[in-house]
Amino acid sequence: MTWSYATHYTCDGCSKVYELNVPINTCPDCGGLLETHYDLDTMKQELSPRQFAGRTTSMWRWHEFYPLRDEAHMVSLGEGGTPLIPSVYAGKKLGLSRLYFKNDALMPTGSFKDRGFSLAISFAKELGLTRGLTYSSGNAGASFAAYSRRAGFEPTVLVEYLANPLKKAIISLYGAKTATLYFDSMTEITDMLEQAVKRLGLYQFVNFINPVRHEAMKAYAYEISETLGWKAPDVMVHPIGTGGGIWGAWKGFCELAQLGWIDAVPRMVGVQPEATGPIVRAFNQGLKQAERHGDATKTIAQSIAADAPIQGGERVLRAIYDSRGFAEAVPDEAIMQAMQWLGCEGICAEPASAASLAALKQAVERGLVRSDETVVCVITGSGLKQPYAIEKSVPDSPLQLHASYEELEKLLGKVWQ
Ligand SMILES: *Cc1c(COP(=O)(O)O)cnc(C)c1O
Ligand SMILES: [Zn+2]
Repeated sequence: MTWSYATHYTCDGCSKVYELNVPINTCPDCGGLLETHYDLDTMKQELSPRQFAGRTTSMWRWHEFYPLRDEAHMVSLGEGGTPLIPSVYAGKKLGLSRLYFKNDALMPTGSFKDRGFSLAISFAKELGLTRGLTYSSGNAGASFAAYSRRAGFEPTVLVEYLANPLKKAIISLYGAKTATLYFDSMTEITDMLEQAVKRLGLYQFVNFINPVRHEAMKAYAYEISETLGWKAPDVMVHPIGTGGGIWGAWKGFCELAQLGWIDAVPRMVGVQPEATGPIVRAFNQGLKQAERHGDATKTIAQSIAADAPIQGGERVLRAIYDSRGFAEAVPDEAIMQAMQWLGCEGICAEPASAASLAALKQAVERGLVRSDETVVCVITGSGLKQPYAIEKSVPDSPLQLHASYEELEKLLGKVWQ
Protein backbone atom coordinates (compact mmCIF):
# COMPACT_ATOMS: atom_id res chain seq x y z
CA MET A 1 0.00 0.00 0.00
CA THR A 2 1.30 3.40 -0.95
CA TRP A 3 0.83 5.93 1.85
CA SER A 4 1.31 8.95 -0.46
CA TYR A 5 1.20 9.36 -4.23
CA ALA A 6 2.89 12.77 -4.16
CA THR A 7 5.81 12.99 -6.56
CA HIS A 8 7.44 16.45 -6.76
CA TYR A 9 7.02 20.22 -6.70
CA THR A 10 6.92 22.49 -9.71
CA CYS A 11 7.37 26.26 -9.63
CA ASP A 12 4.39 28.40 -10.72
CA GLY A 13 6.82 30.95 -12.13
CA CYS A 14 9.51 29.05 -14.08
CA SER A 15 8.16 25.46 -14.05
CA LYS A 16 11.38 24.06 -12.50
CA VAL A 17 10.94 20.72 -10.75
CA TYR A 18 12.00 20.13 -7.11
CA GLU A 19 12.16 17.13 -4.79
CA LEU A 20 9.64 16.97 -1.95
CA ASN A 21 12.09 15.91 0.74
CA VAL A 22 13.97 19.22 1.02
CA PRO A 23 12.89 22.11 3.27
CA ILE A 24 12.23 24.76 0.62
CA ASN A 25 9.40 27.27 0.64
CA THR A 26 9.36 29.13 -2.67
CA CYS A 27 11.38 28.53 -5.84
CA PRO A 28 15.08 29.07 -5.00
CA ASP A 29 15.57 30.37 -8.54
CA CYS A 30 12.72 32.80 -9.20
CA GLY A 31 10.78 33.01 -5.91
CA GLY A 32 7.62 31.54 -7.47
CA LEU A 33 5.14 29.46 -5.46
CA LEU A 34 5.65 25.71 -5.42
CA GLU A 35 2.90 23.27 -6.26
CA THR A 36 2.78 19.64 -5.17
CA HIS A 37 2.06 17.03 -7.86
CA TYR A 38 0.75 13.47 -7.61
CA ASP A 39 0.88 10.36 -9.73
CA LEU A 40 -2.79 10.57 -10.68
CA ASP A 41 -2.47 7.91 -13.40
CA THR A 42 -1.34 5.28 -10.91
CA MET A 43 -3.90 6.51 -8.38
CA LYS A 44 -6.60 5.99 -11.00
CA GLN A 45 -5.50 2.37 -11.42
CA GLU A 46 -4.90 1.54 -7.76
CA LEU A 47 -7.54 3.50 -5.81
CA SER A 48 -11.30 3.61 -5.79
CA PRO A 49 -13.77 5.66 -3.72
CA ARG A 50 -15.06 2.52 -2.00
CA GLN A 51 -11.84 1.76 -0.16
CA PHE A 52 -12.02 4.93 1.92
CA ALA A 53 -15.27 3.98 3.60
CA GLY A 54 -13.97 2.23 6.70
CA ARG A 55 -11.22 4.72 7.56
CA THR A 56 -10.85 7.51 10.12
CA THR A 57 -13.28 10.39 9.57
CA SER A 58 -10.46 12.96 9.94
CA MET A 59 -8.86 14.53 6.88
CA TRP A 60 -6.19 11.81 7.07
CA ARG A 61 -8.80 9.51 5.60
CA TRP A 62 -7.37 10.82 2.29
CA HIS A 63 -3.66 10.45 3.07
CA GLU A 64 -2.80 9.25 -0.45
CA PHE A 65 -3.61 12.78 -1.63
CA TYR A 66 -1.05 14.52 0.62
CA PRO A 67 2.77 14.75 0.44
CA LEU A 68 3.47 13.15 3.84
CA ARG A 69 5.39 9.90 3.23
CA ASP A 70 5.38 8.17 6.62
CA GLU A 71 2.32 7.81 8.83
CA ALA A 72 4.60 7.92 11.88
CA HIS A 73 5.08 11.66 11.36
CA MET A 74 1.38 12.46 11.31
CA VAL A 75 0.33 15.10 13.86
CA SER A 76 -3.43 14.94 14.24
CA LEU A 77 -6.15 16.20 16.56
CA GLY A 78 -8.99 14.70 14.54
CA GLU A 79 -9.28 17.66 12.11
CA GLY A 80 -11.52 17.53 9.04
CA GLY A 81 -14.46 15.22 8.43
CA THR A 82 -16.80 17.96 9.64
CA PRO A 83 -20.54 17.65 8.98
CA LEU A 84 -22.23 18.88 5.81
CA ILE A 85 -25.37 20.36 7.33
CA PRO A 86 -28.51 20.83 5.19
CA SER A 87 -30.02 24.29 5.66
CA VAL A 88 -33.34 24.56 7.52
CA TYR A 89 -33.63 28.37 7.53
CA ALA A 90 -31.51 30.35 5.06
CA GLY A 91 -32.38 28.01 2.17
CA LYS A 92 -36.09 28.81 2.59
CA LYS A 93 -35.39 32.53 2.83
CA LEU A 94 -33.36 32.41 -0.37
CA GLY A 95 -35.57 29.93 -2.22
CA LEU A 96 -32.76 27.37 -2.48
CA SER A 97 -33.77 23.74 -2.09
CA ARG A 98 -30.26 22.28 -1.75
CA LEU A 99 -28.21 24.54 0.46
CA TYR A 100 -25.59 23.04 2.81
CA PHE A 101 -23.10 24.36 5.34
CA LYS A 102 -19.72 22.68 5.72
CA ASN A 103 -19.22 23.39 9.38
CA ASP A 104 -15.52 23.79 10.09
CA ALA A 105 -16.35 25.83 13.19
CA LEU A 106 -16.19 22.37 14.83
CA MET A 107 -12.47 21.94 14.23
CA PRO A 108 -10.05 21.26 17.14
CA THR A 109 -8.96 24.90 17.53
CA GLY A 110 -12.20 26.34 16.15
CA SER A 111 -11.24 27.08 12.54
CA PHE A 112 -10.49 25.38 9.23
CA LYS A 113 -6.83 26.38 9.60
CA ASP A 114 -6.38 23.08 11.47
CA ARG A 115 -6.54 21.19 8.20
CA GLY A 116 -3.54 23.03 6.77
CA PHE A 117 -1.47 23.01 9.92
CA SER A 118 -2.03 19.34 10.66
CA LEU A 119 -0.45 18.64 7.29
CA ALA A 120 2.21 21.39 7.31
CA ILE A 121 3.45 20.50 10.80
CA SER A 122 3.45 16.75 10.05
CA PHE A 123 5.41 17.43 6.88
CA ALA A 124 7.87 19.70 8.71
CA LYS A 125 8.39 16.95 11.28
CA GLU A 126 9.14 14.54 8.47
CA LEU A 127 11.73 17.01 7.15
CA GLY A 128 13.38 17.00 10.58
CA LEU A 129 12.53 20.62 11.47
CA THR A 130 11.99 21.67 15.09
CA ARG A 131 11.17 25.36 14.93
CA GLY A 132 8.58 27.48 13.27
CA LEU A 133 7.35 30.99 12.76
CA THR A 134 4.14 32.35 11.32
CA TYR A 135 2.02 35.47 11.44
CA SER A 136 -1.69 35.48 12.00
CA SER A 137 -4.86 37.49 12.34
CA GLY A 138 -5.80 34.97 15.03
CA ASN A 139 -6.93 31.59 13.77
CA ALA A 140 -3.82 30.48 11.90
CA GLY A 141 -1.67 31.28 14.94
CA ALA A 142 -3.81 29.20 17.28
CA SER A 143 -3.78 26.27 14.93
CA PHE A 144 -0.06 26.55 14.22
CA ALA A 145 0.70 26.76 17.95
CA ALA A 146 -1.44 23.76 18.88
CA TYR A 147 -0.02 21.47 16.21
CA SER A 148 3.55 22.70 16.76
CA ARG A 149 3.36 21.88 20.44
CA ARG A 150 2.04 18.42 19.73
CA ALA A 151 4.96 17.89 17.35
CA GLY A 152 7.41 19.10 19.99
CA PHE A 153 8.29 22.30 18.09
CA GLU A 154 8.79 25.75 19.56
CA PRO A 155 6.20 27.95 17.87
CA THR A 156 6.60 31.71 17.49
CA VAL A 157 3.59 33.68 16.27
CA LEU A 158 3.53 37.29 15.13
CA VAL A 159 -0.03 38.37 15.85
CA GLU A 160 -1.51 41.17 13.74
CA TYR A 161 -2.37 44.21 15.84
CA LEU A 162 -5.93 43.96 14.50
CA ALA A 163 -6.50 40.52 16.02
CA ASN A 164 -8.95 40.48 18.89
CA PRO A 165 -7.40 39.98 22.36
CA LEU A 166 -9.11 36.64 22.93
CA LYS A 167 -7.55 35.15 19.80
CA LYS A 168 -4.13 36.36 20.87
CA ALA A 169 -4.64 34.83 24.33
CA ILE A 170 -5.64 31.50 22.79
CA ILE A 171 -2.41 31.46 20.79
CA SER A 172 -0.46 31.90 24.03
CA LEU A 173 -2.61 29.28 25.72
CA TYR A 174 -1.41 26.75 23.14
CA GLY A 175 2.12 27.55 24.24
CA ALA A 176 3.41 29.86 21.52
CA LYS A 177 5.71 32.82 22.02
CA THR A 178 3.77 35.77 20.62
CA ALA A 179 4.52 39.32 19.55
CA THR A 180 2.13 41.97 18.27
CA LEU A 181 2.84 42.80 14.64
CA TYR A 182 2.25 46.30 13.27
CA PHE A 183 2.24 46.99 9.53
CA ASP A 184 0.78 49.29 6.90
CA SER A 185 0.07 46.63 4.30
CA MET A 186 0.37 42.87 4.06
CA THR A 187 3.01 43.42 1.39
CA GLU A 188 5.40 44.45 4.17
CA ILE A 189 4.78 41.21 6.03
CA THR A 190 5.31 39.09 2.95
CA ASP A 191 8.55 40.93 2.12
CA MET A 192 9.80 40.54 5.69
CA LEU A 193 9.15 36.80 5.68
CA GLU A 194 10.53 36.23 2.20
CA GLN A 195 13.78 37.83 3.38
CA ALA A 196 13.79 35.66 6.50
CA VAL A 197 13.56 32.63 4.24
CA LYS A 198 16.43 33.85 2.07
CA ARG A 199 18.79 35.11 4.75
CA LEU A 200 18.12 32.85 7.74
CA GLY A 201 17.03 29.80 5.82
CA LEU A 202 13.98 29.85 8.07
CA TYR A 203 11.33 27.36 6.99
CA GLN A 204 7.98 29.08 6.68
CA PHE A 205 4.42 28.20 7.49
CA VAL A 206 2.68 31.30 6.13
CA ASN A 207 -0.12 30.49 3.66
CA PHE A 208 1.04 29.86 0.06
CA ILE A 209 4.69 30.44 1.03
CA ASN A 210 4.45 27.03 2.67
CA PRO A 211 4.22 24.67 -0.29
CA VAL A 212 2.16 21.92 1.35
CA ARG A 213 -0.22 23.59 3.79
CA HIS A 214 -3.08 24.14 1.39
CA GLU A 215 -2.90 20.61 0.00
CA ALA A 216 -4.99 19.75 3.06
CA MET A 217 -7.80 22.00 1.82
CA LYS A 218 -8.34 19.53 -1.02
CA ALA A 219 -10.15 17.40 1.53
CA TYR A 220 -13.15 19.75 1.23
CA ALA A 221 -13.65 18.29 -2.24
CA TYR A 222 -13.21 14.68 -1.11
CA GLU A 223 -15.42 14.98 1.98
CA ILE A 224 -18.24 16.91 0.33
CA SER A 225 -18.26 14.77 -2.83
CA GLU A 226 -18.31 11.58 -0.76
CA THR A 227 -21.19 12.85 1.41
CA LEU A 228 -23.18 13.81 -1.71
CA GLY A 229 -22.73 10.29 -3.15
CA TRP A 230 -19.62 11.05 -5.23
CA LYS A 231 -21.14 14.09 -6.81
CA ALA A 232 -19.72 17.60 -6.58
CA PRO A 233 -21.99 20.49 -5.60
CA ASP A 234 -22.84 23.04 -8.30
CA VAL A 235 -21.54 25.97 -6.28
CA MET A 236 -18.95 26.29 -3.49
CA VAL A 237 -18.88 29.57 -1.56
CA HIS A 238 -15.61 30.34 0.26
CA PRO A 239 -14.66 33.37 2.31
CA ILE A 240 -11.17 34.30 1.11
CA GLY A 241 -8.26 36.04 2.77
CA THR A 242 -5.20 34.83 0.92
CA GLY A 243 -7.34 32.21 -0.78
CA GLY A 244 -5.70 28.97 0.35
CA GLY A 245 -9.06 27.42 1.18
CA ILE A 246 -10.72 28.07 -2.17
CA TRP A 247 -7.58 27.18 -4.13
CA GLY A 248 -7.12 23.89 -2.28
CA ALA A 249 -10.77 22.89 -2.58
CA TRP A 250 -10.66 23.62 -6.32
CA LYS A 251 -7.52 21.51 -6.73
CA GLY A 252 -9.28 18.67 -4.90
CA PHE A 253 -12.30 18.79 -7.22
CA CYS A 254 -10.03 18.84 -10.28
CA GLU A 255 -8.20 15.74 -9.01
CA LEU A 256 -11.46 13.88 -8.42
CA ALA A 257 -12.60 14.77 -11.93
CA GLN A 258 -9.28 13.52 -13.36
CA LEU A 259 -9.65 10.27 -11.42
CA GLY A 260 -13.17 9.96 -12.81
CA TRP A 261 -14.74 9.85 -9.34
CA ILE A 262 -17.00 12.85 -10.05
CA ASP A 263 -18.31 13.91 -13.45
CA ALA A 264 -18.63 17.67 -12.99
CA VAL A 265 -16.84 20.32 -10.94
CA PRO A 266 -18.42 23.20 -8.99
CA ARG A 267 -18.32 26.93 -9.70
CA MET A 268 -16.03 28.43 -7.06
CA VAL A 269 -17.20 31.66 -5.44
CA GLY A 270 -14.73 33.84 -3.54
CA VAL A 271 -16.00 36.24 -0.89
CA GLN A 272 -14.25 39.27 0.59
CA PRO A 273 -15.37 42.23 2.71
CA GLU A 274 -16.32 45.38 0.83
CA ALA A 275 -13.72 47.32 2.85
CA THR A 276 -10.85 45.29 1.43
CA GLY A 277 -11.49 43.05 -1.54
CA PRO A 278 -8.50 42.99 -3.89
CA ILE A 279 -9.52 39.68 -5.46
CA VAL A 280 -13.09 40.80 -6.05
CA ARG A 281 -11.86 44.00 -7.66
CA ALA A 282 -9.46 42.13 -9.93
CA PHE A 283 -12.20 39.67 -10.88
CA ASN A 284 -14.62 42.47 -11.75
CA GLN A 285 -11.95 44.00 -13.98
CA GLY A 286 -11.15 40.64 -15.59
CA LEU A 287 -7.52 40.75 -14.42
CA LYS A 288 -5.18 37.81 -13.82
CA GLN A 289 -3.43 39.54 -10.92
CA ALA A 290 -4.79 41.58 -8.04
CA GLU A 291 -3.19 44.71 -6.69
CA ARG A 292 -3.13 45.85 -3.10
CA HIS A 293 -6.55 47.30 -2.30
CA GLY A 294 -8.68 48.48 0.61
CA ASP A 295 -8.31 49.04 4.34
CA ALA A 296 -8.17 45.96 6.57
CA THR A 297 -9.13 47.94 9.68
CA LYS A 298 -12.56 48.80 8.26
CA THR A 299 -14.39 45.45 8.60
CA ILE A 300 -15.45 43.07 11.37
CA ALA A 301 -14.47 40.15 9.15
CA GLN A 302 -10.90 40.15 10.50
CA SER A 303 -9.96 36.72 9.21
CA ILE A 304 -10.54 37.72 5.58
CA ALA A 305 -9.33 41.31 5.82
CA ALA A 306 -6.37 40.86 3.47
CA ASP A 307 -5.42 43.86 1.36
CA ALA A 308 -2.52 42.40 -0.61
CA PRO A 309 -2.85 38.91 -2.08
CA ILE A 310 0.26 36.72 -2.09
CA GLN A 311 1.91 36.90 -5.54
CA GLY A 312 -1.02 38.85 -6.87
CA GLY A 313 -3.60 36.23 -5.97
CA GLU A 314 -2.95 34.56 -9.33
CA ARG A 315 -3.75 31.10 -8.03
CA VAL A 316 -7.00 32.25 -6.46
CA LEU A 317 -8.17 34.13 -9.53
CA ARG A 318 -7.30 31.13 -11.70
CA ALA A 319 -9.49 28.88 -9.52
CA ILE A 320 -12.39 31.31 -9.88
CA TYR A 321 -11.99 31.79 -13.66
CA ASP A 322 -11.28 28.12 -14.48
CA SER A 323 -14.35 26.99 -12.54
CA ARG A 324 -16.56 29.67 -14.18
CA GLY A 325 -17.21 31.01 -10.71
CA PHE A 326 -17.34 34.58 -9.50
CA ALA A 327 -16.33 36.87 -6.64
CA GLU A 328 -18.54 38.89 -4.29
CA ALA A 329 -17.77 41.72 -1.89
CA VAL A 330 -20.04 42.01 1.14
CA PRO A 331 -20.63 44.90 3.58
CA ASP A 332 -20.43 44.38 7.35
CA GLU A 333 -24.22 44.83 7.79
CA ALA A 334 -24.88 41.89 5.47
CA ILE A 335 -22.31 39.82 7.38
CA MET A 336 -24.02 40.54 10.69
CA GLN A 337 -27.40 39.57 9.28
CA ALA A 338 -25.88 36.33 7.96
CA MET A 339 -24.49 35.60 11.45
CA GLN A 340 -28.07 35.77 12.78
CA TRP A 341 -29.37 33.56 9.98
CA LEU A 342 -26.68 30.99 10.75
CA GLY A 343 -27.69 31.17 14.40
CA CYS A 344 -31.15 30.00 13.26
CA GLU A 345 -29.41 27.03 11.61
CA GLY A 346 -27.73 26.10 14.91
CA ILE A 347 -24.37 27.38 13.69
CA CYS A 348 -22.26 29.96 15.54
CA ALA A 349 -19.96 31.43 12.90
CA GLU A 350 -17.39 34.18 13.10
CA PRO A 351 -18.00 37.17 10.83
CA ALA A 352 -15.50 36.03 8.18
CA SER A 353 -17.37 32.74 7.86
CA ALA A 354 -20.83 34.29 7.80
CA ALA A 355 -19.59 36.32 4.84
CA SER A 356 -20.13 33.22 2.69
CA LEU A 357 -23.87 33.22 3.38
CA ALA A 358 -24.07 37.00 2.98
CA ALA A 359 -22.46 36.65 -0.45
CA LEU A 360 -24.78 33.83 -1.44
CA LYS A 361 -27.77 36.04 -0.66
CA GLN A 362 -26.36 38.73 -2.95
CA ALA A 363 -25.61 36.19 -5.66
CA VAL A 364 -29.16 34.80 -5.55
CA GLU A 365 -30.55 38.33 -5.82
CA ARG A 366 -28.31 38.91 -8.83
CA GLY A 367 -29.53 35.71 -10.47
CA LEU A 368 -26.12 34.01 -10.34
CA VAL A 369 -27.38 30.89 -8.52
CA ARG A 370 -30.46 28.87 -9.52
CA SER A 371 -32.98 27.59 -6.97
CA ASP A 372 -32.41 23.88 -7.67
CA GLU A 373 -28.62 24.02 -7.57
CA THR A 374 -26.63 22.29 -4.86
CA VAL A 375 -24.77 24.99 -2.96
CA VAL A 376 -22.22 24.63 -0.14
CA CYS A 377 -21.24 27.57 2.06
CA VAL A 378 -18.02 26.90 3.91
CA ILE A 379 -18.19 27.93 7.58
CA THR A 380 -14.51 28.49 8.21
CA GLY A 381 -14.42 29.42 11.89
CA SER A 382 -16.30 29.55 15.17
CA GLY A 383 -18.04 32.68 16.39
CA LEU A 384 -16.97 31.82 19.92
CA LYS A 385 -13.53 33.19 19.11
CA GLN A 386 -14.90 36.60 18.23
CA PRO A 387 -17.58 37.06 20.91
CA TYR A 388 -17.66 40.85 20.62
CA ALA A 389 -18.87 40.52 17.06
CA ILE A 390 -21.76 38.37 18.26
CA GLU A 391 -22.74 40.99 20.85
CA LYS A 392 -22.61 43.56 18.08
CA SER A 393 -24.71 41.64 15.57
CA VAL A 394 -27.50 40.48 17.90
CA PRO A 395 -29.52 43.00 19.97
CA ASP A 396 -29.66 42.27 23.72
CA SER A 397 -33.17 41.49 25.03
CA PRO A 398 -34.55 44.20 27.33
CA LEU A 399 -37.06 41.77 28.92
CA GLN A 400 -36.63 41.04 32.65
CA LEU A 401 -38.43 39.18 35.40
CA HIS A 402 -38.11 37.99 38.99
CA ALA A 403 -38.58 34.28 39.54
CA SER A 404 -42.32 33.95 40.25
CA TYR A 405 -45.04 32.19 38.29
CA GLU A 406 -47.10 35.41 37.94
CA GLU A 407 -44.19 37.26 36.37
CA LEU A 408 -43.41 34.33 34.09
CA GLU A 409 -47.00 34.24 32.87
CA LYS A 410 -46.88 37.98 32.15
CA LEU A 411 -43.57 37.62 30.32
CA LEU A 412 -44.76 34.74 28.15
CA GLY A 413 -47.81 36.81 27.29
CA LYS A 414 -45.42 39.38 25.84
CA VAL A 415 -43.08 36.89 24.17
CA TRP A 416 -45.78 34.77 22.57
CA GLN A 417 -48.19 37.52 21.54
C1 LIG B 1 -7.97 32.29 7.51
C2 LIG B 1 -9.43 32.35 7.47
C3 LIG B 1 -10.12 32.59 6.28
C4 LIG B 1 -9.43 32.86 4.98
O1 LIG B 1 -8.73 31.76 4.51
P1 LIG B 1 -7.72 31.84 3.29
O2 LIG B 1 -7.25 30.47 3.09
O3 LIG B 1 -6.64 32.80 3.71
O4 LIG B 1 -8.47 32.39 2.14
C5 LIG B 1 -11.50 32.57 6.30
N1 LIG B 1 -12.18 32.37 7.45
C6 LIG B 1 -11.56 32.14 8.62
C7 LIG B 1 -12.37 31.93 9.86
C8 LIG B 1 -10.16 32.12 8.68
O5 LIG B 1 -9.55 31.90 9.84
ZN1 LIG C 1 10.83 29.30 -10.27
